[in-house]
Amino acid sequence: MFNFVGGYVMGARQAGKVAGMSASAGTFAAAAQNFKVDDVNDRLDRLVIVVEAMWSLLEESGYTKEQLDERIAAMDAADGAADGRVQRQKLRCPRCESVVVEGTGRCQICGAEVGEESPFAI
Ligand SMILES: [Zn+2]
Repeated sequence: MFNFVGGYVMGARQAGKVAGMSASAGTFAAAAQNFKVDDVNDRLDRLVIVVEAMWSLLEESGYTKEQLDERIAAMDAADGAADGRVQRQKLRCPRCESVVVEGTGRCQICGAEVGEESPFAI
């Protein structure tokens, strides 16, 4: 599609150049996609290590696997669906009630400061 539109706009003489630009854009998009996946994988690996370390400390303190399973089930069901996922509440602006992007600390609509209560807020 980019080749067709670019060729039409730039003329036949520039069509090869447009094709090259299209290939570069595709390569860039693929690299960006891989970067995101790699970043997520790195963060997931780190999270697994942290959770396993925390669990080993709790086990050493006397907590049992059954207690862990009960807590996981309760937390899973706390959002209204025992589906193995946590549906996080959306952060809302206290002034205008717009949804606020986590980690920004400020409402994008009205500019109000928004405190983030969760220790897991990004
Ligand atoms: Zn607001």
